[in-house]
Amino acid sequence: MSVFEYAPAPESRSIVDIQPSYGLFIDGEFVDGTGEAFKSVNPATEEVLTEVSAGSEADVDRAVTAARRAFTRVWGPMRPADRGKYLFRIARLLQERAREFAVLESLDNGKPIRESRDVDVPLAAAHFFYYAGWADKLDHAGLGTSPRPLGVAGQVIPWNFPLLMLAWKVAPALAAGNTVVLKPAETTPLSALLFAEVCQQADLPPGVVNIVTGAGETGRAVVEHRDVDKVAFTGSTEVGKSIARAVAGTHKSLTLELGGKAANIVFDDAPIDQAVEGIVQGIFFNQGHVCCAGSRLLVQESIHDEVIASLQRRIGTLRVGDPLDKNTDIGAINSAEQLARIKELSDYGETEGATRWQPACDLPDRGYWFPPTIFTDVSPAHRIAREEVFGPVLSVLTFRTPDEAVAKANNSTYGLSAGIWSEKGSRILKVANQLRAGVVWANTFNKFDPTSPFGGYKQSGYGREGGRHGLTAYLKGADRP
Ligand code: NAD
Ligand code: MN
Repeated sequence: MSVFEYAPAPESRSIVDIQPSYGLFIDGEFVDGTGEAFKSVNPATEEVLTEVSAGSEADVDRAVTAARRAFTRVWGPMRPADRGKYLFRIARLLQERAREFAVLESLDNGKPIRESRDVDVPLAAAHFFYYAGWADKLDHAGLGTSPRPLGVAGQVIPWNFPLLMLAWKVAPALAAGNTVVLKPAETTPLSALLFAEVCQQADLPPGVVNIVTGAGETGRAVVEHRDVDKVAFTGSTEVGKSIARAVAGTHKSLTLELGGKAANIVFDDAPIDQAVEGIVQGIFFNQGHVCCAGSRLLVQESIHDEVIASLQRRIGTLRVGDPLDKNTDIGAINSAEQLARIKELSDYGETEGATRWQPACDLPDRGYWFPPTIFTDVSPAHRIAREEVFGPVLSVLTFRTPDEAVAKANNSTYGLSAGIWSEKGSRILKVANQLRAGVVWANTFNKFDPTSPFGGYKQSGYGREGGRHGLTAYLKGADRP
């Protein structure tokens, strides 16, 4: 693997206290579910961490009823500044318990502790701080004076950023005066259950936040419940489409954050070393389980060989392994299912004629692992250039002119994000304006901030999360009844 030898620097897991089993969090308490129990495993070791309950329709109904009651009697009528105080309290508790959340997230999800510690948890707290500030300023949300909350929000989130996606969903909903029923992903329920404890610790009124664990059927019950006013979903385009069909013709409002196939465009005047860091960060951050990952590298033909050689050298130094080790760059693939999908698409890449490169890399015997991978000789028609791999796999394509770069970047059914690397500001602005992507980064990649709206074009979904835009998705006002 690497030419450097490091001593292992594992984070201690003794800070987390995982119960042998968990119920559902409904109306401020942990209660037994009526559905079957299922296991959550540590994908780095295949160790069973705990058992959680698969919420049934009856459980979801109980949660929605609690959320409705809390909305009508407590949270809706509460003074906005007081709602803000609860959000500030939650934000501070997330900070206080940051190390516990980071270790738990890395155990259940497989992501490197460096990322859960430095990205997921601080950003989750930042979202609560940011939206806490909005709670008593809703008149400035851009929806006229005294905009009103929608009511009960049903929220379904994926496994790639379990706590952060919870924060993206729960913080704006509560700040706007809604109550929520949230379903975490089946492979990563634990940080949401710890968040439920934080709600208790913050004395949040019962029923304002309800957490119902389970798989797709539980998610469907949340989305289709007749007393839910707003549905917010992040996950695959396929499930997003089925949710859009289920919600069509009802009174529910809907926001969808779906997949992506971002182009990361490197022009010949870009600083190569910085661009290489950005390419690595763009595709290998969180094992590539990122909807806005820079999974299509578009490199100008004249610098192709230089960029690839430099990229290969850099990838050779990445450390793949124990997510709890502070030196680890790439952790475990989240599940056996996701690993199978990554393998299938990568093998198909070779079948279609692309060239696979992987560094020499010792992978642990147990757990789900995939080495950092780049494909060259990729054509825009290949599946690895079109479909979301959602793993540490980069497809490299080339272009000659800026127009060709824009055309190739936009040649996608997705439009979530993009990156541009160039020394020329004028070129960056010109290209950015032509890209059909919700977020465009210039000379950087995968930068997130709660003040900045995030969302897609085309099959990447609709609606925005983050910033003022994210708040309005949970409000109705004079110009949006
Ligand atoms: P998924 O869309 O099936 O799961 C996301 C969430 O939706 C989970 O909580 C799941 O339980 C729930 N769900 C599943 N079916 C549902 C239904 N009919 N109604 C309501 N909720 C439902 O995603 P996945 O199977 O975990 O991953 C498949 C692919 O999706 C990945 O390979 C990746 O390409 C993509 N993905 C994208 C994102 C993203 O952030 N955009 C996140 C996860 C996965
Ligand atoms: Mn897990």
